Amino acid sequence: MGDARGQLRIIASVSQMQAEAEAWRRAGKIIGFVPTMGYFHEGHLALMRQARERADVVVVSLFVNPTQFGANEDLSHYPRDFERDRAITESVGVDVIFFPEATTIYPPGYQTTINLAELPKPLCGVARPTHFAGVATVCCKLFNIVKPHFAVFGEKDYQQLLVVKQMAADLNLDLEIAPGPTVREPDGLAMSSRNVYLSPQERAQAVWLSRSLAIAADLVAEGETCRDRVIATVWETIRVQPLANIDYVELRRVPDLVPAEEEPRGKHLLALAVYFGKTRLIDNRVIHFPE
Ligand code: AMP
Repeated sequence: MGDARGQLRIIASVSQMQAEAEAWRRAGKIIGFVPTMGYFHEGHLALMRQARERADVVVVSLFVNPTQFGANEDLSHYPRDFERDRAITESVGVDVIFFPEATTIYPPGYQTTINLAELPKPLCGVARPTHFAGVATVCCKLFNIVKPHFAVFGEKDYQQLLVVKQMAADLNLDLEIAPGPTVREPDGLAMSSRNVYLSPQERAQAVWLSRSLAIAADLVAEGETCRDRVIATVWETIRVQPLANIDYVELRRVPDLVPAEEEPRGKHLLALAVYFGKTRLIDNRVIHFPE
């Protein structure tokens, strides 16, 4: 019991995880938490290191949450490699991997879902209408199981970060939601567990997602203030890649994600989702327009 630092433990049971968390809290330990679906890459590790810097105890959950996948999505094919994940996690100094079975989180008779009214509707919510309810629900459950003082979420999934922040505020959850910056491959592609699905040709063209966002950000930095020209720059840059199928390119205000005005002011999210074959990639940049 107490601080398990230096020795990674795997916990699968809700009651055991709650008991450990309670004991850490009573001992005055700060609990940092990183929820994940596994198949770790540098993006996950950066969040774990960020948690490690501030916490006495770091818990990572590894749970491929079935309720955030739609009927035709990649739940059954989602990449998994527990032994590799375990070794990587150990190297970062994580204390506990919470690794429950799906039936532990959703036992027979389970019936509660958390629905946010507005934030889940635009952007990824159009193609994935049930996704953010699944995310909000599992995050709330995981927070009640791990009892963290703070939880770290990547800006790579910016809409998810906003949904979880809003849910935590609306439900008076007693924890901080801390953002972590997007980690990228050397050529700029945002790291994602789904990048392993890409063929070499798709991988080569996928670099234009981050490049198009960078070109648009540069335009704004040089004084462009027109919403439509910013969006068109991204759209046209990706459209000419033959294997890319654009789902959306949008500019929305942060943090409420309402559509940008024609001449936006202040903090906005330039976000995109693009299909390469069946693989759907997302990326975004936060853009600051003059106030
Ligand atoms: P996932 O395993 O894909 O559910 O992601 C778990 C956490 O890692 C989420 O908070 C993601 O936003 C975050 N994450 C995924 N990819 C990246 C990345 N490239 N950079 C930073 N955080 C990321």
